[in-house]
Amino acid sequence: MLIVLISIAFLPSGIFGFGKTVTVGGLFEDDDLTATAFRLSANVLNNERHGNSKFSEQFIYAQMITVNNDTYDVSQDVCELANNGVAAIFGPRDKIAAKHVQSMCDTMEIPHIVARWDPRQTRGNGVLNMYPYSQTLSRIYLQLAQDFEWKTFTILYESTENLIRMHELLKRWNRRGHTVTVRQLPKGPNYRKVLEQIKKSGDPNVVVDCSIDVLPDVLKQAQQVGLMSDRHSFIIASLDLSTIDLEPYQHGGTKFVGLRLVDPDHPVVIDTFEKHASEWGVEDPSQLTAEVALIYDSVQVFGRALKQLDDAIVADTKTSLCQNVDSWEHGSSLMNIMRSIESTGMTGLIKFDSSGYRSNFKLDLVGLDLDGLHKIGTWNTTCGINYIPKPSLTDHTVELNLRNKTFIILIAMTPPYGMLKDSAKEETGNDRYEGFGIDIIQELSKLLGFNYTFEVQADDVYGSKHPVTKKWNGMIKKIMEDRADLAITDFTITAERQEAVDFTMPFMNLGISVLFRKPKPAGSSLFAFLMPFSKEVWMYLMGTYLVVSLCFFIAARLCPAEWSNPYPCIEEPEELENQFTFKNAFWFTIGSIMQQGSDVAPIGLSTRMMGGFWGLFIMIIVSSYIANLAVFLVVESKPVLIKTAEDLFNNPHGIKYGAKGSGSTIDFFKASTHPVLKEMKEYMVKNKKELLPSSNNEGVRKVMQENYAFFMESSTIKYEAERKCNITQVGGLLDAKGYGIAMKKHSPYRNAKSTGILKLQETGVLKELENKWWKQKRGGGACEEKKGGTSDAKPLGVDNVGGVFLVLITGIALSGVYTACELLWAVGCTSIKENVSFVDEMREELKFAVKFGASSKPVRRRKPSSRSNRSKEDDVNGASTPPWGLGSTIITVASEDDRLHL
Ligand code: GLU
Repeated sequence: MLIVLISIAFLPSGIFGFGKTVTVGGLFEDDDLTATAFRLSANVLNNERHGNSKFSEQFIYAQMITVNNDTYDVSQDVCELANNGVAAIFGPRDKIAAKHVQSMCDTMEIPHIVARWDPRQTRGNGVLNMYPYSQTLSRIYLQLAQDFEWKTFTILYESTENLIRMHELLKRWNRRGHTVTVRQLPKGPNYRKVLEQIKKSGDPNVVVDCSIDVLPDVLKQAQQVGLMSDRHSFIIASLDLSTIDLEPYQHGGTKFVGLRLVDPDHPVVIDTFEKHASEWGVEDPSQLTAEVALIYDSVQVFGRALKQLDDAIVADTKTSLCQNVDSWEHGSSLMNIMRSIESTGMTGLIKFDSSGYRSNFKLDLVGLDLDGLHKIGTWNTTCGINYIPKPSLTDHTVELNLRNKTFIILIAMTPPYGMLKDSAKEETGNDRYEGFGIDIIQELSKLLGFNYTFEVQADDVYGSKHPVTKKWNGMIKKIMEDRADLAITDFTITAERQEAVDFTMPFMNLGISVLFRKPKPAGSSLFAFLMPFSKEVWMYLMGTYLVVSLCFFIAARLCPAEWSNPYPCIEEPEELENQFTFKNAFWFTIGSIMQQGSDVAPIGLSTRMMGGFWGLFIMIIVSSYIANLAVFLVVESKPVLIKTAEDLFNNPHGIKYGAKGSGSTIDFFKASTHPVLKEMKEYMVKNKKELLPSSNNEGVRKVMQENYAFFMESSTIKYEAERKCNITQVGGLLDAKGYGIAMKKHSPYRNAKSTGILKLQETGVLKELENKWWKQKRGGGACEEKKGGTSDAKPLGVDNVGGVFLVLITGIALSGVYTACELLWAVGCTSIKENVSFVDEMREELKFAVKFGASSKPVRRRKPSSRSNRSKEDDVNGASTPPWGLGSTIITVASEDDRLHL
């Protein structure tokens, strides 16, 4: 049914017009805003036709027909227009009807102007399409997906023709990880099924290509099925995203990006809109669809072309074209002029290339945020996409944004960071989990106001980059692909990981160390009595004994006082005897060691001095020995097999070692250039099945049951050693690092979360939580008492007793000096008394002293000459005494022969 609407608005000016009237036909659907644009644009041409040299002076009569898209009816409408003599036909919007109109216009050579997206736009002569070319749009969508680093996304399209606009995007699929899923929207109005399927697939990125008429329903239902969280991103293919109400979606954090052809802030658009403000039927220019603006512009282009045609030839329209199966001879000229025209309209620069496609046009990139839709960039044919730099959000804004946001948080079942609750009743949701990491998130959410859902990383893989494919796995992969927002566990911050994700500031500091079983007490030994002293000390003691005994022997031989009368009843003995024979000297020293003494007692001051120092030395040594022996007997000794991590390398005890198969510890070894660590890594990787368990729990079990040492992070070692008393940390830390909460790279929430961690640290909450999970909960503190009982008994080394040896050496040296003095004095006295030279006398003395076998010494005969000078008392005692009276008494007795001479 055709309803012909003849616009009578312009009839008065046509009737009373200046010059001729040119009719243009417009085919529009009922209640179509494009019809209004068509009418308003013709109105402008008519109103300005005398003042604007660019417009034709002819009156343009805009004949509008409402079509119902039935092809027969449409052809009747076209015929009606053609028979009336139209200079151009605009519309309709419907694809099939438009094709039909186009073929009729081609035949009659009436310019046909359309403003609809035509997926099969051809280079035909008779039609001028104002809409940007599909191929161009397709490339822009691809560019967007690349810029957003989408590795996986779903294309949700309305009809198969939409796929033509998506074909560049489809090319993004490749075997190496770019997944593109294509789903068609069913016949409306219920689209929930397909939307649910997208949600279940976990794909967070969707390209929606459907008409603006169904888009509001699709978005609404997407929100209803939960496809509009802050993990989700949408590219909307329609150029009319700004015309629909997006308010319900602007607070949920869903990312929306679209393109628009009409910039509502452009002066031309504002001007045009304000000219007819009351007639558009919308409140502001942002609600004008691309088609409306394009129809408006197309009429303007027609007005300019008509002017140029008028200037060139005296043209007139032809009537009865349909009836006579005839064509309009000026149709193609008018079309060619339209294609060559360059002007600026509501849709920016209007220009066509040689093939009749819009060229050099500009599109705005728009994105949705908390305040609504904003321009986030522009696209043009020469520069491609240009993003407007985002103003950085203030902390306050970020905090506001965090409120009521729901994050998916990855956790791992690694005690004590995340564990399943031991609860009698069956828990659901987040209540199923507890642990240090869980508590930190709870505290942060109280502070920042966000909600969260925990998701367990079943394989315990946190994330490593494959050395060849450079792809990430585990939790990091999920965060990068937007399948999760955060991850909290013993997640080590490493430089490599920081290239892929962002971390908060560390909530715990640690380093790599070794977990190994505690040493077992050694069985009792027959030679346990030797343990108080180290081997070196025993050697030194032996040496000291020999040297000191020898010193006694020599000193006693040189010391005059040590030569005594063996028979006290004989006043003038023939010989003097020395009690420090070789054997006695050794016996005397051993007697002191045993603290038993001996019958031999030193007489001379020098030998007594030596004896004194030796006694002091022995006293200290024996006391130290007894004291340390007591410790050794009380405390069980535990042989330590390894003291540092390096001791594991090529260890003689057959201790195997390893680390968690996938994690920062083994990555540390892989990255290390230290020769020993490199070799250790080779060994571990070579035997990875046996040595690199998939989780820390498995590693701990191996340490307890096998001859195995496990490289582990000190924080976790501390936790395990607190509960399992037969394992402990061995040695210090190989490095220093921290655990952080991981999130997507460049996350706007990073600062807010780091500040939250800092606050928890400053208020002591983190320390409290650490105490709770390390020392109290789940068997914490079980090994505390036993800690006090660990053995500290160590053999005393040279470092401990070296001082006593020094004292002894000093003593022996002093007594040696004193022995020399005594000898000199005695020889001096004798040489004077006997009137012999000092040197001879000394030679004699020394000669005798070195005859070690002789323990008795003949008494030297006094010479008669000298004897006369001596006092009687002297003669009786036969002795001379050193001046200070401490020296020995030298008894010289005349021999038998001497007496006979008397
Ligand atoms: N904390 C490590 C990581 O973030 C896991 C445990 C380990 O490798 O020792 O990968």
